[in-house]
Formats: sequence, C-alpha cells, structure tokens
Amino acid sequence: MRAGFEGMDELLRDRLLIMVNDQLAIDMLPHVPARTGGLVLTGAAAPVRCREIRNVLPKTVVAMDYCSHTQQTATADAPFCIKTPYGWRRLDLAGLSEILDGQRDNKASYAVTPTCFIPADQVGDASVLKAVIRQANQLRRDDTLLLLPCSWRWFQRSALPHLAEQIQTSRHPVALIVQADGDPLERKQVPEGLRQLCRSCPRLVLWRTDLAAFDAMAHGALGAAVGASAVLRHGVMPRPDSAGGGHKPYPVVLVRRLLRYHRVATLDDWFAHVDPWTCTCAVCDGAALTRFTDSDADVLAALQHTVRELYSLHEELEATLPGDERIGWWRQQLADAWDYHRLLASQTDTEVSFPKVLQAWRRPSPPALPAAEAYRAQGQVDPS
Ligand SMILES: [Zn+2]
Repeated sequence: MRAGFEGMDELLRDRLLIMVNDQLAIDMLPHVPARTGGLVLTGAAAPVRCREIRNVLPKTVVAMDYCSHTQQTATADAPFCIKTPYGWRRLDLAGLSEILDGQRDNKASYAVTPTCFIPADQVGDASVLKAVIRQANQLRRDDTLLLLPCSWRWFQRSALPHLAEQIQTSRHPVALIVQADGDPLERKQVPEGLRQLCRSCPRLVLWRTDLAAFDAMAHGALGAAVGASAVLRHGVMPRPDSAGGGHKPYPVVLVRRLLRYHRVATLDDWFAHVDPWTCTCAVCDGAALTRFTDSDADVLAALQHTVRELYSLHEELEATLPGDERIGWWRQQLADAWDYHRLLASQTDTEVSFPKVLQAWRRPSPPALPAAEAYRAQGQVDPS
C-alpha cells in the first residue's frame, strides 16, 4: 500500500455525506455532524459555497461533484470532461489535475474526478471503464476520489466481475454511482451485485444514493453520500441539456420506521382517520410527520428532518463493529421495518406494500466475488 492512501481512507471511513445543491447547503449545516458527516455540493456555485463553509467551519468535510456524468457519456478517448462557459472541455491528464487542484484551492476536503457516464458495455471489453481507471491512476496525488458513474447493467452477474476487477486496480478510493431510470436497486440482480461489490472492494463509497448507503456500509463500503433530493439519489442517463428540477418541490420525508422516503401526501392518505405518526428528531420535536405543507419553508424543514433521521440511523450503524455485528444490526432494522409496515396497515386499515428493495435486502447476503478474494489474498494493488 502506498503512502498517503490511509489519509483518504480514514477521512471517508464510516462517513455519511449529504449530497445537496449549493443553494440548500447552508440550511443543512446545523444538522450535519462534523465528526461523522459532511456535504457533497452540486450546482454552479458549489466551489464558492465550499470555500465559504470551510472558511467558517474548517472541521466540516465538504467536497463537490461537478455532475459531468449527468450530461456527458465517457469515451475511451475522453473519460473526463468539464462544462465551461465556452462548451464542454475534454480533460487530458494536465487538465484533470488542474480541475482537481481547483477543488482543493476552493478548500474541498478532497477532490472528486469529473468522470463522464460509463454506459453498459455491449461488447464486453470494458474499454471505457479501463480508460477511466488508467488515466486516473496516472495522477500522482493522494487526495482524490475517483468517481465511477455506471449503468445498472454493470451490477448484473455477467458484468460484475469485470467491474470489480477494474475497481481493484484503482489507486484511489472509488465513489460509485448506480444509474437507472427510476430506482436502480429495483433492477434484476443489482441489490445482490452491489453487496458483492462492497464485500469485494474495500475502498468503495456509494455515491448519489438513498438508504442503500446503509446496506452498502453494512457490507463493507467505506462510506456513502445520500442525495437530499430524489434526483440526487441515483445516477441518471446523460442528457446534454439537463438542468435538473423544473417542477415545484413538494415535501418528502424519510419515515425511519419504514426505512423509506414518502411524499407527505401519501402520509396524509394513510393517516386521514387516525392519529399520524410523530417524530422525536430535533427538527420535529414530537410533531406529526404529516404537518409539512408545500410551502418552501416546510419543504426545507421536511428535508432537515430527513437529514436528522439519516444521521440518527447512521449513529447506530457507526456504533457497531464492521462485519457480522453491523450486518446483524441492519437485518434487525429491516425486520423492524417489516413489522412497522404491518402495523401501519392494521392501524390505518389500508394496503401498505413492503417495498421491493427492502424485500431484496432481507435476503441472505451473498459472499464476496471469488476472483476478488484471490486478488485480495495477494495483498496488493496492480499498478498498471
Ligand atoms: Zn423529524
């Protein structure tokens, strides 16, 4: 293991980051614990906001994601790109270094590569993925997280060993995005594939995700970045003109007992005739989860509640020992969620389905990939 690796790994180990647009970043800060949390900023003003926050709160971990992958597909010749006022700029090694230095100059705690989207490889030669890893491995720096925004198809059984093999050759810890239309974890073989990958590659950070953060960290992921809005909770197919947003925001809350995000409108339906569930987080202070309206202030308060609940869950995870104890804790959370779904159905006399993703997580955990085991037994990273 090379000198300097330990620094990044220690910074990210068991850390739960909140990925949020620069406009909402300041409103998140009081709810993010400095020791175990942090922010990943998106949006045009991310560099400025990062600098502002770090100037005032130097102990808060902040980084930024330029989200090139939401607009550009990687090619073997141009795996890294950045949007400039004059159009898209392909980055060679010097250009990539310059961009990463720029993030650090704006006081980011670590740099994140502006990797473009890595599509499902039809021919199976993984050339684009290899180009991403190869170019990043030429960087002589130990402050960088390599972003891999991958199609969900990479997590299917046939492609997974290739993905794992490449990740294991990375000199940098890897931030992994799973892309799909809708929830990628509802795709066939993806939940178990992601678990196997987390068990096989110890330097993974699940990026732009939701409660899959907890499943990944239970299975050995270094850390995770959970999106504050639905669009930041999974990877998207690149669209050159994607600006994000557009519709009027509505309140969404994490219902911790159910391990699930719900629109408040759904809660209103459930609790139309019975007392609504309440929450004891610092934002709610015992108030009902149904109280959030469509007002900007309430949409924000709903998000702040969700961030509080994420860190409350994370505090429990962090108190467990990695390995069997942590997986046992997570399985218990899932078992409790199952009970709460049934309780909700009986309390409200409505149909409440148990989500497909939670069903998948209740299945037994698959072992690490055989090839990865052999690879790790060698105890080193292939420098090529
Ligand atoms: Zn709350």
